[in-house]
Amino acid sequence: MLMEVTCRCGWSTRGLESEVIAGIQAHAKAEHDIKLSADDVRAVWRVVAEGPPIDEPGSG
Ligand SMILES: [Zn+2]
Repeated sequence: MLMEVTCRCGWSTRGLESEVIAGIQAHAKAEHDIKLSADDVRAVWRVVAEGPPIDEPGSG
């Protein structure tokens, strides 16, 4: 399952849960001097649907 989280500044990242947590923690520290906990990240992230979009057959 992929997750995505967007910072208040507009920066965003997506990936595996552990990657997203580590990614925005590093961003928040580097860009905003904020220390985020994993729970902070879990409170704001959203699930990204995996797989290609489903096209209806018969057209095109
Ligand atoms: Zn930011």
